Amino acid sequence: TYTIYELSTHLRKSHEDPLSKATSKDAATFKDHLGIESTIGNTPLIVIKSLSEATNCTILAKCEFLNGAGNSPKDRVALSIINRAEEEGLLTPYSGDTIYEGTVGSTGISLATLARARGYKAHIVMPSDQAHEKSDLLRKLGAIVDRVPPAPIVDQAHFVNRARNLAAAHTADTDRKGRGLFADQFENDANWRAHFEGTGPEIYAQSAAGGGVDAFVAGAGTGGTISGCAMYLKSQVPDIRVVLADPAGSGLYNKVKHGVMFHGLEREGTRRRAQVDTVVEGIGLSRSTRNFEVGSDAIDDAVKVSDAQAKRMARWLCERDGIFVGSSSGVNCYAAVKTALELGPGHRVVTILCDSGMRHLSKFWKQVGEIGGEDDMTFEELMED
Ligand code: PMP
Repeated sequence: TYTIYELSTHLRKSHEDPLSKATSKDAATFKDHLGIESTIGNTPLIVIKSLSEATNCTILAKCEFLNGAGNSPKDRVALSIINRAEEEGLLTPYSGDTIYEGTVGSTGISLATLARARGYKAHIVMPSDQAHEKSDLLRKLGAIVDRVPPAPIVDQAHFVNRARNLAAAHTADTDRKGRGLFADQFENDANWRAHFEGTGPEIYAQSAAGGGVDAFVAGAGTGGTISGCAMYLKSQVPDIRVVLADPAGSGLYNKVKHGVMFHGLEREGTRRRAQVDTVVEGIGLSRSTRNFEVGSDAIDDAVKVSDAQAKRMARWLCERDGIFVGSSSGVNCYAAVKTALELGPGHRVVTILCDSGMRHLSKFWKQVGEIGGEDDMTFEELMED
């Protein structure tokens, strides 16, 4: 057994041994240098010390906000989607091809950044209620951005359907330069595969350095992260516990717990409801997706996290550990602690820190408020219902 300090030193060392990807340092020649793509993947796994001490477990977090293109796990997905489309001849660099995507923001930012690096245009459709940090950034990256009113998924006005239709219209228009590619993160197998081949194996290798992993906890926006990681980790550690972290208003909790997405009035409501009702951005779904379904057999349980709990956790992480993250990371860490408390002392729980709090200043962090002044909250206050 290691002290938390020894463990974090150990993990830092294990991170210095990248699993697969070339970096400028180890590339044989500059020709092999991969550019911004080489900053994607091999993110550190850190110990969240305050939560580990409070639970008598080891709470570990994969720092996906350190992916260096769009600064979220979506860098892996965007790179995987673009690489696959290039291999299949669906995209050709500098040919006028445009990548279209419906996204709440993170995937759009990763696609727009990599589009710059690879000679594509990016056209992003997103719901108008998301924090403006994301659409501002997308415009700075030169992407075309449509912010559209939230609409139900069955409606052609829904941001995902709009992006699909725009891509098809571009390709069909022979007067327009290039083709349109619909990145389709919700249904595209390149999404979960990026996590099955990258995030999952990295978590396995990095946690092995500290003695293994007992549980993996993550939210689902498309489901790619939880499915890809769960399937890989279960292939290596068959009795690992995989837990979905689900925000307010999402239907996935019921799907995992009871096998159905909605009950009674809620089911009726989804036709009219535009989206999940929460301040949390990036996770929660009112429908199932290919990327969630593919790994759903590997998900053992779900934890519901309220907006108040997500905000308290984000505040706690900043106050106690200097970890400044966004709303979905707050949900993930809250569910990771619940899972650790259920498993009991000595267990090791891994979760994901998806993006930085800086992307959420105007919405989520505005509600969390400022740190300092009052007394720090206690662990009991943090975990209140
Ligand atoms: N956190 C944030 C901030 C996100 O944008 C997303 C993706 N929408 C997720 C978490 C969830 O990841 P996934 O799509 O792989 O389920």
